[in-house]
Amino acid sequence: MTSLIGLDLRGKRVVIAGGGVVATRRLRRFMAAGAAVRVVAPDASDDIARQASHGDLEWVQRPVEPADLDDAWFVLAATDDRALNDAIAGWAEERRVWCIDASDAHRGTARQAAMSTHGDLTIGVVSVDAPDPKRIRSVRDAIAAHIDGGGVDLRRQRPGKGRVILVGSGPGQPGLMTVRGRQALAEADVVVTDRLGATETLVAVPYEVEIINVGKSPDNHPVGQAEINRILVENALAGKTVVRLKGGDPFVFGRGGEEAHACIAAGVDYEIVPGVTSAISVPALAGIPVTQRAVANSVLITSGHAGADGSAIAAMLHGATVVFLMGVSALPQIVDAALTAGVSGTTPVAIIENGSTSQERVTRGELASIVGISGETGVKPPAVIVCGEVASPQFLASVTASTS
Ligand code: SAH
Repeated sequence: MTSLIGLDLRGKRVVIAGGGVVATRRLRRFMAAGAAVRVVAPDASDDIARQASHGDLEWVQRPVEPADLDDAWFVLAATDDRALNDAIAGWAEERRVWCIDASDAHRGTARQAAMSTHGDLTIGVVSVDAPDPKRIRSVRDAIAAHIDGGGVDLRRQRPGKGRVILVGSGPGQPGLMTVRGRQALAEADVVVTDRLGATETLVAVPYEVEIINVGKSPDNHPVGQAEINRILVENALAGKTVVRLKGGDPFVFGRGGEEAHACIAAGVDYEIVPGVTSAISVPALAGIPVTQRAVANSVLITSGHAGADGSAIAAMLHGATVVFLMGVSALPQIVDAALTAGVSGTTPVAIIENGSTSQERVTRGELASIVGISGETGVKPPAVIVCGEVASPQFLASVTASTS
Protein backbone atom coordinates (compact mmCIF):
# COMPACT_ATOMS: atom_id res chain seq x y z
CA MET A 1 0.00 0.00 0.00
CA THR A 2 1.35 3.42 -0.91
CA SER A 3 1.32 6.17 1.66
CA LEU A 4 1.59 9.84 0.81
CA ILE A 5 4.03 11.55 3.17
CA GLY A 6 5.25 15.14 3.16
CA LEU A 7 9.03 14.79 3.21
CA ASP A 8 11.17 17.74 4.17
CA LEU A 9 14.03 17.39 1.71
CA ARG A 10 15.74 20.69 2.46
CA GLY A 11 19.49 20.18 2.48
CA LYS A 12 19.09 16.42 2.19
CA ARG A 13 21.25 14.55 -0.31
CA VAL A 14 19.21 13.28 -3.27
CA VAL A 15 21.06 11.20 -5.83
CA ILE A 16 19.80 11.23 -9.40
CA ALA A 17 21.24 8.43 -11.50
CA GLY A 18 21.06 9.46 -15.16
CA GLY A 19 21.30 12.76 -16.96
CA GLY A 20 18.83 12.45 -19.81
CA VAL A 21 15.37 13.83 -20.46
CA VAL A 22 13.67 11.96 -17.63
CA ALA A 23 16.29 12.92 -15.05
CA THR A 24 16.26 16.54 -16.22
CA ARG A 25 12.52 16.83 -15.94
CA ARG A 26 12.20 15.03 -12.64
CA LEU A 27 15.07 16.67 -10.82
CA ARG A 28 13.28 20.02 -10.91
CA ARG A 29 10.98 18.70 -8.23
CA PHE A 30 13.88 17.93 -5.93
CA MET A 31 15.57 21.24 -6.63
CA ALA A 32 12.35 23.09 -5.82
CA ALA A 33 12.16 21.18 -2.52
CA GLY A 34 15.60 22.50 -1.59
CA ALA A 35 17.35 19.13 -1.73
CA ALA A 36 21.12 18.84 -2.20
CA VAL A 37 20.94 17.21 -5.62
CA ARG A 38 23.81 15.13 -6.99
CA VAL A 39 23.50 13.86 -10.55
CA VAL A 40 25.67 10.84 -11.36
CA ALA A 41 25.90 10.17 -15.09
CA PRO A 42 28.63 10.01 -17.75
CA ASP A 43 26.62 12.41 -19.94
CA ALA A 44 24.05 15.01 -19.00
CA SER A 45 21.64 17.37 -20.71
CA ASP A 46 22.57 21.01 -21.30
CA ASP A 47 20.13 21.94 -18.57
CA ILE A 48 21.87 19.76 -15.98
CA ALA A 49 25.32 20.90 -17.12
CA ARG A 50 24.22 24.55 -16.81
CA GLN A 51 22.79 24.06 -13.32
CA ALA A 52 26.00 22.28 -12.32
CA SER A 53 28.11 25.13 -13.64
CA HIS A 54 26.01 27.57 -11.58
CA GLY A 55 26.61 25.44 -8.53
CA ASP A 56 22.89 24.73 -8.12
CA LEU A 57 23.54 21.00 -8.22
CA GLU A 58 26.48 18.66 -8.30
CA TRP A 59 27.23 16.55 -11.38
CA VAL A 60 29.52 13.54 -10.96
CA GLN A 61 30.57 12.67 -14.49
CA ARG A 62 30.81 8.87 -14.51
CA PRO A 63 28.55 5.80 -14.33
CA VAL A 64 26.69 5.36 -11.06
CA GLU A 65 28.10 2.97 -8.43
CA PRO A 66 26.53 1.45 -5.33
CA ALA A 67 28.67 3.64 -3.03
CA ASP A 68 27.03 6.76 -4.53
CA LEU A 69 23.99 5.91 -2.47
CA ASP A 70 25.84 5.75 0.84
CA ASP A 71 25.05 9.30 1.93
CA ALA A 72 21.70 9.60 0.12
CA TRP A 73 18.32 10.11 1.69
CA PHE A 74 16.57 9.54 -1.57
CA VAL A 75 17.46 8.12 -4.97
CA LEU A 76 15.95 8.60 -8.38
CA ALA A 77 16.96 5.83 -10.78
CA ALA A 78 16.50 7.56 -14.13
CA THR A 79 19.14 6.15 -16.44
CA ASP A 80 18.12 4.99 -19.91
CA ASP A 81 19.07 1.42 -18.94
CA ARG A 82 16.18 -0.43 -17.39
CA ALA A 83 18.35 -3.16 -15.90
CA LEU A 84 20.63 -0.56 -14.32
CA ASN A 85 17.65 1.28 -12.84
CA ASP A 86 16.48 -1.99 -11.33
CA ALA A 87 19.97 -2.63 -9.95
CA ILE A 88 20.00 0.87 -8.39
CA ALA A 89 16.62 0.13 -6.81
CA GLY A 90 18.23 -2.97 -5.31
CA TRP A 91 21.24 -1.02 -3.96
CA ALA A 92 18.81 1.49 -2.45
CA GLU A 93 16.80 -1.28 -0.81
CA GLU A 94 19.96 -2.71 0.79
CA ARG A 95 20.85 0.71 2.19
CA ARG A 96 17.29 1.54 3.29
CA VAL A 97 17.20 4.55 1.04
CA TRP A 98 13.86 5.42 -0.57
CA CYS A 99 13.98 5.09 -4.33
CA ILE A 100 11.89 6.03 -7.34
CA ASP A 101 12.62 3.72 -10.24
CA ALA A 102 11.72 5.82 -13.28
CA SER A 103 11.41 2.76 -15.53
CA ASP A 104 9.31 0.63 -13.20
CA ALA A 105 7.34 2.16 -10.33
CA HIS A 106 6.79 -1.30 -8.88
CA ARG A 107 10.53 -1.82 -8.43
CA GLY A 108 11.16 1.32 -6.44
CA THR A 109 10.02 1.99 -2.89
CA ALA A 110 8.59 5.43 -3.69
CA ARG A 111 6.45 6.99 -6.39
CA GLN A 112 6.45 10.42 -7.80
CA ALA A 113 3.29 12.31 -6.91
CA ALA A 114 1.63 14.81 -9.24
CA MET A 115 1.84 17.96 -7.16
CA SER A 116 0.67 21.52 -6.99
CA THR A 117 1.30 24.20 -4.42
CA HIS A 118 -1.21 26.76 -3.22
CA GLY A 119 0.15 29.19 -0.68
CA ASP A 120 1.24 27.05 2.24
CA LEU A 121 -0.60 23.96 1.01
CA THR A 122 0.81 21.27 -1.23
CA ILE A 123 -1.52 18.86 -2.98
CA GLY A 124 -0.13 15.51 -4.10
CA VAL A 125 -1.76 12.69 -6.06
CA VAL A 126 -0.34 9.19 -6.50
CA SER A 127 -1.93 6.01 -7.73
CA VAL A 128 -1.39 2.97 -5.55
CA ASP A 129 -1.75 0.52 -8.40
CA ALA A 130 -0.52 0.66 -11.97
CA PRO A 131 1.28 3.92 -12.62
CA ASP A 132 -0.57 6.26 -14.97
CA PRO A 133 1.05 9.71 -14.95
CA LYS A 134 -1.51 11.37 -17.21
CA ARG A 135 -4.35 10.23 -14.99
CA ILE A 136 -2.86 11.51 -11.73
CA ARG A 137 -1.97 14.79 -13.41
CA SER A 138 -5.51 15.25 -14.60
CA VAL A 139 -6.81 14.66 -11.05
CA ARG A 140 -4.19 17.08 -9.72
CA ASP A 141 -5.18 19.70 -12.33
CA ALA A 142 -8.86 19.43 -11.44
CA ILE A 143 -8.14 19.90 -7.73
CA ALA A 144 -5.71 22.75 -8.42
CA ALA A 145 -8.21 24.56 -10.64
CA HIS A 146 -10.86 24.21 -7.97
CA ILE A 147 -8.59 25.71 -5.32
CA ASP A 148 -7.22 28.47 -7.55
CA GLY A 149 -10.73 29.40 -8.63
CA GLY A 150 -11.44 30.38 -5.02
CA GLY A 151 -13.90 27.50 -4.61
CA VAL A 152 -12.33 26.02 -1.48
CA ASP A 153 -12.51 27.52 2.00
CA LEU A 154 -8.86 27.87 2.95
CA ARG A 155 -9.37 29.59 6.29
CA ARG A 156 -7.27 28.19 9.11
CA GLN A 157 -9.40 25.98 11.32
CA ARG A 158 -6.89 25.94 14.14
CA PRO A 159 -6.16 29.13 15.96
CA GLY A 160 -2.77 30.38 14.93
CA LYS A 161 -0.85 33.56 14.52
CA GLY A 162 -2.83 36.26 12.77
CA ARG A 163 -1.47 38.11 9.78
CA VAL A 164 -2.30 40.71 7.20
CA ILE A 165 -2.25 40.06 3.45
CA LEU A 166 -2.19 43.19 1.32
CA VAL A 167 -3.80 42.09 -1.92
CA GLY A 168 -3.79 44.09 -5.13
CA SER A 169 -6.95 43.00 -6.94
CA GLY A 170 -6.34 44.69 -10.29
CA PRO A 171 -8.43 47.29 -12.09
CA GLY A 172 -11.80 45.67 -11.48
CA GLN A 173 -12.44 42.72 -13.74
CA PRO A 174 -12.16 39.59 -11.55
CA GLY A 175 -10.10 37.79 -14.20
CA LEU A 176 -7.35 40.35 -13.74
CA MET A 177 -6.82 39.44 -10.09
CA THR A 178 -3.84 37.15 -9.53
CA VAL A 179 -4.13 33.51 -8.51
CA ARG A 180 -2.35 34.26 -5.23
CA GLY A 181 -4.78 37.10 -4.60
CA ARG A 182 -7.71 34.73 -4.94
CA GLN A 183 -6.09 32.18 -2.67
CA ALA A 184 -5.50 34.86 -0.07
CA LEU A 185 -9.18 35.77 -0.22
CA ALA A 186 -10.07 32.14 0.39
CA GLU A 187 -7.81 32.18 3.49
CA ALA A 188 -9.35 35.34 4.97
CA ASP A 189 -11.26 35.55 8.24
CA VAL A 190 -11.67 39.29 7.72
CA VAL A 191 -11.60 41.30 4.50
CA VAL A 192 -11.00 45.03 4.66
CA THR A 193 -12.01 46.37 1.26
CA ASP A 194 -12.07 49.52 -0.83
CA ARG A 195 -14.58 50.42 -3.48
CA LEU A 196 -12.14 50.05 -6.37
CA GLY A 197 -10.72 46.81 -7.71
CA ALA A 198 -12.19 43.34 -8.07
CA THR A 199 -14.79 43.77 -5.32
CA GLU A 200 -17.09 41.43 -7.27
CA THR A 201 -14.99 38.54 -5.97
CA LEU A 202 -16.34 39.24 -2.47
CA VAL A 203 -19.68 37.78 -3.51
CA ALA A 204 -18.11 34.33 -3.23
CA VAL A 205 -16.62 34.57 0.28
CA PRO A 206 -18.39 32.55 2.99
CA TYR A 207 -20.97 34.36 5.14
CA GLU A 208 -18.89 33.99 8.29
CA VAL A 209 -16.10 36.09 6.81
CA GLU A 210 -16.35 39.61 8.14
CA ILE A 211 -16.22 42.25 5.39
CA ILE A 212 -15.30 45.76 6.45
CA ASN A 213 -15.74 48.40 3.77
CA VAL A 214 -13.43 51.34 4.27
CA GLY A 215 -13.73 52.69 0.75
CA LYS A 216 -14.31 56.32 -0.02
CA SER A 217 -17.45 57.32 -1.85
CA PRO A 218 -19.16 60.69 -2.28
CA ASP A 219 -21.90 59.86 0.22
CA ASN A 220 -20.00 58.20 3.03
CA HIS A 221 -17.36 59.46 5.36
CA PRO A 222 -14.12 57.79 4.47
CA VAL A 223 -12.43 55.81 7.19
CA GLY A 224 -9.11 57.51 7.90
CA GLN A 225 -5.83 55.73 7.23
CA ALA A 226 -4.95 55.54 10.93
CA GLU A 227 -8.26 53.82 11.60
CA ILE A 228 -7.70 51.37 8.72
CA ASN A 229 -4.26 50.54 10.11
CA ARG A 230 -5.80 49.97 13.52
CA ILE A 231 -8.46 47.61 12.09
CA LEU A 232 -5.81 45.58 10.27
CA VAL A 233 -3.47 45.29 13.22
CA GLU A 234 -6.12 44.58 15.86
CA ASN A 235 -7.70 41.78 13.87
CA ALA A 236 -4.33 40.22 13.13
CA LEU A 237 -3.32 40.44 16.79
CA ALA A 238 -6.58 38.63 17.60
CA GLY A 239 -5.26 35.70 15.55
CA LYS A 240 -7.18 36.39 12.35
CA THR A 241 -6.03 36.28 8.77
CA VAL A 242 -6.86 39.71 7.44
CA VAL A 243 -6.99 40.42 3.73
CA ARG A 244 -6.67 44.06 2.81
CA LEU A 245 -8.25 44.11 -0.65
CA LYS A 246 -7.15 47.02 -2.80
CA GLY A 247 -7.63 48.21 -6.33
CA GLY A 248 -4.73 47.81 -8.76
CA ASP A 249 -1.40 47.24 -7.04
CA PRO A 250 -1.14 47.85 -3.30
CA PHE A 251 2.05 49.88 -3.63
CA VAL A 252 0.96 52.19 -6.44
CA PHE A 253 -0.91 55.05 -4.76
CA GLY A 254 -2.56 52.44 -2.62
CA ARG A 255 -1.16 53.45 0.76
CA GLY A 256 -0.02 49.85 1.05
CA GLY A 257 3.34 51.06 2.28
CA GLU A 258 1.71 52.73 5.27
CA GLU A 259 -0.29 49.60 6.06
CA ALA A 260 2.80 47.39 5.81
CA HIS A 261 4.59 49.84 8.08
CA ALA A 262 1.77 49.65 10.64
CA CYS A 263 2.14 45.83 10.62
CA ILE A 264 5.89 46.05 11.14
CA ALA A 265 5.43 48.53 13.99
CA ALA A 266 2.94 46.22 15.69
CA GLY A 267 5.00 43.07 15.09
CA VAL A 268 2.33 41.60 12.83
CA ASP A 269 3.31 39.26 9.97
CA TYR A 270 2.28 40.53 6.58
CA GLU A 271 2.43 39.46 2.95
CA ILE A 272 2.25 41.59 -0.17
CA VAL A 273 0.36 40.25 -3.14
CA PRO A 274 1.15 42.54 -6.07
CA GLY A 275 -1.67 43.43 -8.40
CA VAL A 276 -2.20 44.59 -11.96
CA THR A 277 -2.05 48.36 -11.62
CA SER A 278 -4.71 50.46 -13.32
CA ALA A 279 -1.96 52.87 -14.37
CA ILE A 280 -0.70 50.44 -16.99
CA SER A 281 -3.52 47.95 -17.50
CA VAL A 282 -6.36 50.41 -18.03
CA PRO A 283 -4.54 52.21 -20.87
CA ALA A 284 -3.56 48.80 -22.27
CA LEU A 285 -7.18 47.69 -22.38
CA ALA A 286 -7.97 50.88 -24.32
CA GLY A 287 -5.25 50.00 -26.83
CA ILE A 288 -2.65 52.37 -25.39
CA PRO A 289 0.84 50.97 -24.81
CA VAL A 290 2.39 53.25 -22.19
CA THR A 291 5.80 52.75 -23.78
CA GLN A 292 6.50 52.24 -27.45
CA ARG A 293 9.89 51.96 -29.11
CA ALA A 294 10.91 55.25 -30.75
CA VAL A 295 7.78 57.00 -29.49
CA ALA A 296 7.78 56.94 -25.70
CA ASN A 297 10.78 55.53 -23.87
CA SER A 298 9.54 56.20 -20.39
CA VAL A 299 6.35 56.53 -18.46
CA LEU A 300 5.63 58.56 -15.36
CA ILE A 301 2.82 57.49 -13.09
CA THR A 302 1.75 60.37 -10.93
CA SER A 303 -1.09 61.60 -8.78
CA GLY A 304 -3.21 64.23 -10.47
CA HIS A 305 -5.02 64.96 -7.25
CA ALA A 306 -3.39 68.37 -6.83
CA GLY A 307 -2.71 69.10 -10.50
CA ALA A 308 0.56 68.48 -12.35
CA ASP A 309 3.82 68.95 -10.47
CA GLY A 310 7.24 69.82 -11.87
CA SER A 311 8.19 66.22 -12.62
CA ALA A 312 4.99 65.62 -14.58
CA ILE A 313 5.51 68.79 -16.62
CA ALA A 314 9.16 67.93 -17.27
CA ALA A 315 8.18 64.43 -18.38
CA MET A 316 5.59 65.83 -20.79
CA LEU A 317 8.11 68.31 -22.19
CA HIS A 318 10.49 65.40 -22.80
CA GLY A 319 7.88 63.39 -24.66
CA ALA A 320 7.44 60.75 -21.98
CA THR A 321 4.03 59.22 -21.38
CA VAL A 322 2.43 60.65 -18.25
CA VAL A 323 -0.32 58.70 -16.51
CA PHE A 324 -2.36 60.63 -13.95
CA LEU A 325 -4.33 58.72 -11.35
CA MET A 326 -6.95 60.55 -9.27
CA GLY A 327 -6.76 63.42 -11.74
CA VAL A 328 -10.33 63.99 -12.92
CA SER A 329 -11.28 66.90 -10.68
CA ALA A 330 -7.96 68.69 -11.16
CA LEU A 331 -7.88 68.17 -14.93
CA PRO A 332 -8.22 71.93 -15.68
CA GLN A 333 -5.23 72.69 -13.42
CA ILE A 334 -3.17 69.90 -15.01
CA VAL A 335 -3.88 71.25 -18.48
CA ASP A 336 -3.22 74.85 -17.44
CA ALA A 337 0.13 74.02 -15.89
CA ALA A 338 1.21 71.98 -18.93
CA LEU A 339 0.21 74.59 -21.52
CA THR A 340 1.79 77.40 -19.48
CA ALA A 341 5.04 75.43 -19.32
CA GLY A 342 5.08 75.09 -23.08
CA VAL A 343 3.78 71.57 -23.62
CA SER A 344 2.16 71.42 -27.05
CA GLY A 345 -1.62 71.90 -27.11
CA THR A 346 -1.83 69.10 -29.67
CA THR A 347 -0.42 66.51 -27.24
CA PRO A 348 -2.90 63.60 -27.35
CA VAL A 349 -4.84 62.87 -24.16
CA ALA A 350 -7.04 59.87 -23.38
CA ILE A 351 -9.22 59.51 -20.32
CA ILE A 352 -10.41 56.02 -19.46
CA GLU A 353 -13.15 55.66 -16.86
CA ASN A 354 -13.93 52.38 -15.10
CA GLY A 355 -11.32 50.48 -17.08
CA SER A 356 -11.83 46.72 -17.46
CA THR A 357 -15.44 46.91 -16.25
CA SER A 358 -18.69 46.94 -18.21
CA GLN A 359 -18.86 50.71 -17.63
CA GLU A 360 -15.53 51.35 -19.32
CA ARG A 361 -15.55 54.53 -21.42
CA VAL A 362 -12.72 56.22 -23.30
CA THR A 363 -12.73 59.98 -24.01
CA ARG A 364 -10.06 61.35 -26.31
CA GLY A 365 -8.81 64.76 -27.18
CA GLU A 366 -5.74 66.96 -27.14
CA LEU A 367 -4.28 68.94 -24.32
CA ALA A 368 -5.95 72.13 -25.57
CA SER A 369 -9.37 70.55 -26.09
CA ILE A 370 -9.67 67.85 -23.43
CA VAL A 371 -11.17 69.99 -20.66
CA GLY A 372 -14.05 71.05 -22.91
CA ILE A 373 -14.60 67.54 -24.26
CA SER A 374 -14.54 65.86 -20.86
CA GLY A 375 -16.93 68.48 -19.52
CA GLU A 376 -19.38 67.63 -22.31
CA THR A 377 -19.12 63.88 -21.84
CA GLY A 378 -19.28 64.22 -18.06
CA VAL A 379 -16.11 62.31 -17.20
CA LYS A 380 -16.18 61.00 -13.62
CA PRO A 381 -13.76 59.12 -11.39
CA PRO A 382 -12.37 56.54 -11.28
CA ALA A 383 -10.44 57.38 -14.40
CA VAL A 384 -6.91 57.18 -15.70
CA ILE A 385 -5.64 60.14 -17.74
CA VAL A 386 -2.91 59.38 -20.28
CA CYS A 387 -0.96 62.23 -21.92
CA GLY A 388 1.50 61.67 -24.75
CA GLU A 389 1.79 60.44 -28.33
CA VAL A 390 0.75 56.90 -27.37
CA ALA A 391 -2.67 58.29 -26.41
CA SER A 392 -3.52 59.45 -29.91
CA PRO A 393 -6.59 57.80 -31.43
CA GLN A 394 -5.79 54.74 -33.52
CA PHE A 395 -2.19 54.86 -32.29
CA LEU A 396 -1.73 51.09 -32.49
CA ALA A 397 -3.30 50.94 -35.93
CA SER A 398 -1.07 53.73 -37.23
CA VAL A 399 2.07 52.10 -35.78
CA THR A 400 1.14 48.84 -37.44
CA ALA A 401 0.49 50.63 -40.72
CA SER A 402 3.80 52.49 -40.69
CA THR A 403 5.90 49.45 -39.75
CA SER A 404 4.25 46.95 -42.07
N1 SAH B 1 -3.49 51.18 -6.37
C1 SAH B 1 -4.30 51.56 -7.49
C2 SAH B 1 -4.46 53.05 -7.60
C3 SAH B 1 -5.19 53.65 -6.43
S1 SAH B 1 -5.47 55.38 -6.63
C4 SAH B 1 -3.71 50.96 -8.77
O1 SAH B 1 -2.57 50.49 -8.76
O2 SAH B 1 -4.42 50.94 -9.76
C5 SAH B 1 -7.08 55.36 -7.30
C6 SAH B 1 -7.05 55.79 -8.74
O3 SAH B 1 -6.72 54.71 -9.56
C7 SAH B 1 -8.36 56.27 -9.29
O4 SAH B 1 -8.60 57.61 -8.94
C8 SAH B 1 -8.13 56.13 -10.77
O5 SAH B 1 -7.30 57.16 -11.24
C9 SAH B 1 -7.34 54.86 -10.82
N2 SAH B 1 -8.16 53.68 -11.09
C10 SAH B 1 -8.26 52.57 -10.33
N3 SAH B 1 -9.04 51.66 -10.92
C11 SAH B 1 -9.43 52.19 -12.08
C12 SAH B 1 -10.23 51.73 -13.17
N4 SAH B 1 -10.79 50.52 -13.16
N5 SAH B 1 -10.41 52.55 -14.23
C13 SAH B 1 -9.84 53.75 -14.26
N6 SAH B 1 -9.08 54.23 -13.27
C14 SAH B 1 -8.87 53.48 -12.20
